[in-house]
Parts: sequence; C-alpha cells; structure tokens
Amino acid sequence: MTLVIRDTTVVTSDAARTVRHGASIAVGGDRVAAVGPRDEIDRRFPDAERVDGRGKAVFPGLVNCHTHLWFTVARGIQEDFGFPSTLAFPQTVTDLLSPEENAVFATLGALEALRGGTTTLFDVGFRIPDYAKPVVASGLRIVFGPSSSDLDPAGVRDGRFTYSPARGEKTLRAVDDLISGWHGAERGRITCLVAAHAAEACSPDLLRAARELAERRNLGTTIHVNQSQWEVDAVMRVRGLRPTEYLFQCGFLGPRMIGAHCRYLSPAEVALLGRSRVFVSHNAAMAARRGSAPPIQALEAAGATIAMGSDNMAHDMLEVMRTGLFMERVARQDGERPWPEDVLEWTTRNGAIALGLGAEVGSLEVGKKADLAVVDARRPHLVPNVRIVSAFIHNGQAGDVESVMVDGRWLMRDRRVLTIDEADVVARAEALGQRVWRQLVEKYPDVPFPIRLPGSAPSA
Ligand SMILES: [Zn+2]
Repeated sequence: MTLVIRDTTVVTSDAARTVRHGASIAVGGDRVAAVGPRDEIDRRFPDAERVDGRGKAVFPGLVNCHTHLWFTVARGIQEDFGFPSTLAFPQTVTDLLSPEENAVFATLGALEALRGGTTTLFDVGFRIPDYAKPVVASGLRIVFGPSSSDLDPAGVRDGRFTYSPARGEKTLRAVDDLISGWHGAERGRITCLVAAHAAEACSPDLLRAARELAERRNLGTTIHVNQSQWEVDAVMRVRGLRPTEYLFQCGFLGPRMIGAHCRYLSPAEVALLGRSRVFVSHNAAMAARRGSAPPIQALEAAGATIAMGSDNMAHDMLEVMRTGLFMERVARQDGERPWPEDVLEWTTRNGAIALGLGAEVGSLEVGKKADLAVVDARRPHLVPNVRIVSAFIHNGQAGDVESVMVDGRWLMRDRRVLTIDEADVVARAEALGQRVWRQLVEKYPDVPFPIRLPGSAPSA
C-alpha cells in the first residue's frame, strides 16, 4: 500500500537543498517511493491512501548524534552546575534508581525526541541494557553506542587516575554483547557504534581494543573529547598531551569517528580533527549551558564534518539547531552566516552520514527510508511560509511537529504518540524524579545543595 502526503511543501535536505512547493511525497512500504509535483504523483499513484498536506511542511526526520536518554532525571538541576558537576554528591540520582526506573526516564527522553521531530537518535553510555527494550519500542531509529572505559572511578575526584585492565575488558565484553544483541535488529532500524567513554577515561590499550572491536564489527566509533578544561588538564597531566593529540597518537581519530563536544581545542587539535576527517557532534544547547563553544567554523574549514546532538537532559533538536545557529553567529560576529539551511544539513544529512546511515536516512529522496516529520506550517509564528526552513529554525517550536514517521510507520499522528503510553510515562517520571532528588539530598545532608526542592521547608 502506498501512502501519499499530498499538496504540501517538501523540504528534501538533498545535496542541492531542494524545497518543493505544491508537491507530494509517496511512501511505499518503509521507503520514499516518489517526491514530485502534486498532479504527477496523483497520476502515478491513483489508488494510494492520501493525507492532506496543505498548510504543512514535510521535513526529513531530525538526527540527534549524541545523547544519554536516561539522564532526563537530572533535568532542571544539572544544567546549572557546570561540567564536571560542582554538586559534590558522591553518587548521582541515577545510582539511586533501579534499572526499570532508569528506563522510565530513557522512555521520557525518547518521547520528547519524538514529539520534536527527531527520528534517529544516537544514545551513548554504560547502562543501555537497562532501557534498550522500551526505547526500541518507541519506534524511533536508534543507534546504540555502548561505552567502554578502564578508568577506576574511585580516585578521580582526588585527582588520581588509575586504569584497570579488568574493568576495560569487562566493559568491552558488554559492548560486544550489546552489539550482538541489537545491531541490525528490527529489520535494520537498530544499529550500533562502539563508544570509548572519554579521553581521560581510556588508556591507550583500551582505545586500541575499542578500535579493533569496531573494525572487527565494521562499525564506527565515538568518544567524548575536549569537553571541559578539567578534562584537558587531566589528560595533560596523565599523558603529557592534549586530549585530541592523545587520541591521534593512539590511532583513534578517523573518518568513522564522532567526536562529541570538541570545545576546548588548541589550533593544533583543530587541525588534527580536520586532517583525520572526523565528525564532530556539536551539542550546541549543552555547550551554551556550559558557557563554552566549539570552534565550528575552524573545524569545518580544517576538514571536519559538523553534526548535532542534544546531550544530557533535553532532546529537542529544534532547540539545538536554533542555539547552534545563534552561537555561531555570535562567535563569528556575523548576522548572515551560518544559514538555517546549513544548520538543517548538520542535523539531517551530516548526522545520518556520521552514524553510518547516509545511504538510508538524512534526506527525503527516492529509495531512502521514509523517516519524516510533518510540521503544521500555519502556526502564527511560522507564517508566511515563503522560506520554511528559515522560519522553522528561527521561530519554530517542537509542538509544531504534528506527525512523525519512521520506516514508513506513523509513530505520532496529529500530535498523538502511538507507540508510548505518554500519560503513564510522564506520571511515573514525575513521581520518581521528586522522590529520588529528595532521597539524594537526605542521604547526604552535609553536601551543599543550593536548591529548595518542592515540599521542603523554606530556608530560614
Ligand atoms: Zn555525552
């Protein structure tokens, strides 16, 4: 059965950045069957199920190249304490939650992503087995990045960096198991990359082993790199090199690697990332919250490819795109560049290529997967629709997305999410979030916490 979204605006995100007006898009099975003028598509697909696309714009689903879905539990708190967090609790709230409870927050993250038009999401971390199943059940296209590290976390707060081969082997075994269990699952909707956690968290042996595992599995890699001044100082102290220089020396940089953050970079490191043809996940909203910006223009000029990610606590890629656009204009002191179309390319085509999915998603072209978001383009803040990409990125809201499709299947239709019990997830996450923050604060009464939680006594 063919489905046609008829008489609409199709933002293709193809190489020529074509936007088609008065057009229709036909979906056959899980793929785009045709994009073309309304009348032509009517003639070619006379028996198709038709969806009225007037007053809408169809975008390719957005691609989030770096996040940690389960950390939505820290929303409203951890945004305001820097990185590494200046909250001195010996544990995080997630340590006080069961795997099932952490899964509620991962599902909450998936729900938020879906509502905002994200269709492909790269989730990185150590706890993926706790929440893989409900996240996969959301219907989103998921790339899992199971993480590895051989750093003993015990001494880090006191500045001691010791590395344990046993821990490295254990985490790499878990990476391999997760890949065996999920890579290619759901008819290819689920794939994996190999993550090494961060430059300071991985010895040369761990980095080599992670790279070899990725090569054996024919997969790309990812790592957090140059995320904070703290990390730069730590790697300088332990390795005598800056983080990117260290990764280069260990042979970890390359054209199938996504470097997440890439913020505190020397000019020599920018050159190394460019020469190595890496992908950079520019997590713009998080970068802005942390008060630091990656040198995007220099990275692109050097040869790196920019993709975008949300990172912790939020999964609204429209907000990420807009923040990225604004940050770059401020950084360049340029009221014209980048263009919204540049930023959309980072968040669609580039993101798909970064994740090894460039042949399948990232643009609305014949033969690619039918992963798309239908935007209500008649909202007051989007009219007139003379240049919908610019209007959407400058002024759009996640709530403008009214329907989302992945693999030709509606996951949200007319703002109703079809794959997740939204009311249940929201209610459980709210109750758990209230409970667990109170629990953490009560467990460590001596740790300064300058926030008054709901229901606690007013401060004197
Ligand atoms: Zn991260």
